[in-house]
Amino acid sequence: MNVNPHELKFQAVAASPGIAIGQAFIILPQVSSYENVLERVIPESQIDSEIERFNRALEQCRQQIINMQQRVQDKFDSREAGIFDAHLLIADDQILNDEVKTLIGKGVNAEAAYKRVITRYVNAIESIPDSYIRERANDIKDIASRVINNLTRESTPVVKPPDTPHIVIAHDLTPSETALMDRKTILGFAVETGSTTSHTAILARSMQMPAIVGLPHEAFTEIKNGSMIIVDGGNGELFVNPAQETLDFYRERIALEHNFAISLAGERSLPAQTTDNYEVKLYGNLETAEDLSAIIESGAGGVGLFRTEYMFINTAVLPSEDKQYQIYSDLARRIHGAPLVIRTLDIGGDKLESRIDATMEANPFLGLRAIRLCLKSRIDIFRAQLRAILRASIHGDIRVMFPMISCVEEVIEIKSFVAKMMSELKSENIAFNQDIKLGIMIEIPSAALIAEKLAPLVDFFSIGTNDLIQYSIAIDRNNDRVAYLYQPTHPAVLELIHRTVCAARNHGIAVSICGEMAGNPIYTPLLVGMGVHELSMGPNSIGIIRRIIRMMNKKDAETAVAKALKCTTAEEALKVSAGILRSIAPDMVGLGMPGF
Ligand code: PEP
Ligand code: MG
Repeated sequence: MNVNPHELKFQAVAASPGIAIGQAFIILPQVSSYENVLERVIPESQIDSEIERFNRALEQCRQQIINMQQRVQDKFDSREAGIFDAHLLIADDQILNDEVKTLIGKGVNAEAAYKRVITRYVNAIESIPDSYIRERANDIKDIASRVINNLTRESTPVVKPPDTPHIVIAHDLTPSETALMDRKTILGFAVETGSTTSHTAILARSMQMPAIVGLPHEAFTEIKNGSMIIVDGGNGELFVNPAQETLDFYRERIALEHNFAISLAGERSLPAQTTDNYEVKLYGNLETAEDLSAIIESGAGGVGLFRTEYMFINTAVLPSEDKQYQIYSDLARRIHGAPLVIRTLDIGGDKLESRIDATMEANPFLGLRAIRLCLKSRIDIFRAQLRAILRASIHGDIRVMFPMISCVEEVIEIKSFVAKMMSELKSENIAFNQDIKLGIMIEIPSAALIAEKLAPLVDFFSIGTNDLIQYSIAIDRNNDRVAYLYQPTHPAVLELIHRTVCAARNHGIAVSICGEMAGNPIYTPLLVGMGVHELSMGPNSIGIIRRIIRMMNKKDAETAVAKALKCTTAEEALKVSAGILRSIAPDMVGLGMPGF
């Protein structure tokens, strides 16, 4: 037996199933803003080398902008990459850079000198009444943070990501950084922050990339660039310098999971129908257009949630109405008339984008987020998006869904705006589907509690359990310190879901679940037993959920729901659901499905 005495194991949180074996590449923490720098005095003898250091940081910044431009161009649209030309102009600004060098010449360190000059420019621009010009201050801040980061990282060698396959280790990854990951070279990732329902984790599942979150801080002192590691995304484990025995075990697991996936794929054309003939529609959640093929391959019946915000996040220029029209129409065509539920912009919370809303809020998850932002601050964006959706609606079964609904008034306001958009299009002789289905997300407890009042106003409900849990239990869904309280089977959560499903049934409208609960087999008995019509999830989960539903009996699930609703704790209710699951599919336990 070949045991490596240096093997270390860290327990983190499962975020995206699958196993990755490869070399680590560590992404160093960034200084979050150019404002967070300290001033120190540079002795005269070091002034020349300090200026050299500044020149190097500027040059690095230029390279980073060019690389970013290239990546955006490859992934999105060449016109959008053009904005980086403006960034290059800022980085190359001779007057600004000379001013910094003059200050360094007076003994101010490069970071502080740059900050001082930049702050003056930013203040001057921000005092101009023209909002377009004011927006440019954000570009300058962006470049400034980049240059400062380059300066502060200089003491630790900057390592270029390898071109060969590797596993990313980082303290934090934003949803936009995750969306831009190169899938050809990145095998998986492990981060210190976040939780299973953070958007970074959701994206990883969508990209079918093994990932763990909540990696213990100590791991960062043990993992070096190039260390051999194993990430077990289903069990939330990470091994550093694994022994031969561990490697063999995980290689066998990869083969096992592969075979299991093949056997699930063999059922892709079968309906998700219980043994007593209750059919549940299974749909895929889509983050970027390039993930549609995984949804199609999974045999999903359509797209139950298109998170359109990613079109707005990783782009230098916001997508125009025409660009959106093209994207929506292409997607509708590619799924050949199957339902495509397009959710309007849900920016805010952890999906922040300063180009859309630069206002800093103390509590972004409770702030001017999603539909609130669209209606109250960026009606221009809402207008372009709705017109694009309506125009595309003639190319398939496109439905539109509005996020973060909290009251009846919002729905009334939305509907009158949709009617206005329709009459505009009519007067321009532009075709659209007049009967397009309008739905709302039920993800705020107030909406679930007034579901009976909301149901008559819309064509469907989609329950966003990620936010519903966050808001009903009052826990930040990204905060690993309170992740232990994040319990989908909390009696309050089950009550809210049940209430919503009953209201939909009473009013004859469809109800789906599109939060992460929908793709976790452990909750399937409860959701099916309550009588949801549709479950929408990451493509990875569709096969297993289909198999479980096909093994299940709706009557038994209903009995389980009646029992679970009487439970006083989340754990008891979870046991009820797990009991059904174990009785029908004991052999699936331990196959790397989160929460199993
Ligand atoms: C949800 O809240 O459950 C949901 C599906 O939306 P998101 O995760 O994008 O907030
Ligand atoms: Mg949500």
